[in-house]
Amino acid sequence: MVVGPAADVVIVGGGVAGGVLALALRELSASVTIVDAPAQDAVQASSRTQVCSASALSYGALPGWPLAPTPLARMAAGASKHWRRLQGRHGALGWRPCRLRVHGAAAGLRAVSAWWPLPFAQVDSAVLMARLPLILAAAGVTCRSARVEQLNREPTAGWMLHLSDGTSLRAPQLVLAAGAHCRHLWPALPSRLRSSWAAALELPSYPAVLGSAAAWLPLSFGRVGLERRAASLSQPEWLVDGGLVPWAAGALLGQHTLVRPGLELGAPPPPVEVERQLRQGLEAQSWGASLATLPGGLRQAAVSFCSQGVPLVGALPEAPGLWVFTGFSAGFSQVPVLAPLVAQALVSGGSRAEAALRRLHQLGLGQPNLAGADRCP
Ligand SMILES: Cc1cc2nc3c(=O)[nH]c(=O)nc-3n(C[C@H](O)[C@H](O)[C@H](O)COP(=O)(O)OP(=O)(O)OC[C@H]3O[C@@H](n4cnc5c(N)ncnc54)[C@H](O)[C@@H]3O)c2cc1C
Repeated sequence: MVVGPAADVVIVGGGVAGGVLALALRELSASVTIVDAPAQDAVQASSRTQVCSASALSYGALPGWPLAPTPLARMAAGASKHWRRLQGRHGALGWRPCRLRVHGAAAGLRAVSAWWPLPFAQVDSAVLMARLPLILAAAGVTCRSARVEQLNREPTAGWMLHLSDGTSLRAPQLVLAAGAHCRHLWPALPSRLRSSWAAALELPSYPAVLGSAAAWLPLSFGRVGLERRAASLSQPEWLVDGGLVPWAAGALLGQHTLVRPGLELGAPPPPVEVERQLRQGLEAQSWGASLATLPGGLRQAAVSFCSQGVPLVGALPEAPGLWVFTGFSAGFSQVPVLAPLVAQALVSGGSRAEAALRRLHQLGLGQPNLAGADRCP
């Protein structure tokens, strides 16, 4: 059964990428449908672990300075301005200024722990993910809770989506924003798009030993180096980054990252083992030792990333009408600055669409299938 009239754009995935892109499309008066797989509770071994989207597990950190010497990183440093604008328009999305304390050792230097003097903010991902469905509905986005099982190209133009509830959906333009699951839907995506399993501990309250609420982040995340090495791995590698952010009424603590060789995501690693590694990893760091035994539940998420750090954003010319919006290393900074450009390129037409595409190309985006793109720095 084919359900409903086709929206101008159908987005697969209701995380930060799909959700913020849908809001940008509505600002251009396009009709939008989001199809998002229902949340899944996985009960494994003796522990109850929640498997959620990457967006629901994110620290939501928004550094107000560029993290790399690239035009995209410079744009992403201004993400707070976009979140503030979105909050002004739609109501609370979890954005707030936040104090930042950094810890750890830079190469060859002694360990530091200091308040960071540059502007910093955070999107509380618990607030964002609770509010997003309400905000999308109020903005006129149609939301379907179902898993897209299969995509088929229509004989004339557009796409037919086959959903887990037995229905089908027609899509003149289709955007894959399904994070680590995009490749499952379209296996021919470039090999620089990869996936990992992440985990963090959900603490019921902010640790009193840390004083008033602030984000505590390492000077550098080992995860970034592991993602860069992903293409050369011959066996699975995992590591623990020590960080903590205020989250809901409590905090998110630590970040366990598992990257497997190859392009397949595979099943989530056993939660009992992951929690043991995460707590041991925290204990081994002078900063995290006193926090490692705090009570808290493990949350796991599949995360997409691009091994060269440049996200996968744009149309796939070999599949007319199919776009990708994924592979973000810092989705909370990159998505809000890119979504308005992608929305313009998708639905504005004429010179405005061309201008948006030109801007995306200047940022090194917009042609995700080019052979050279796999080698792009
Ligand atoms: C522990 C941790 C900390 C992080 N900290 C930061 C940070 O401080 N700052 C930052 O910018 N980024 C951070 N990130 C990264 C950030 O979370 C991601 O870049 C971002 O959430 C990616 O969003 P997304 O919408 O692309 O993917 P997701 O949030 O994974 O959303 C994908 C959605 O697609 C849906 N889906 C998948 N398959 C299907 C299907 N077949 N049919 C329908 N729906 C489907 C899923 O259900 C999901 O809702 C962190 C990540 C982790 C794990």
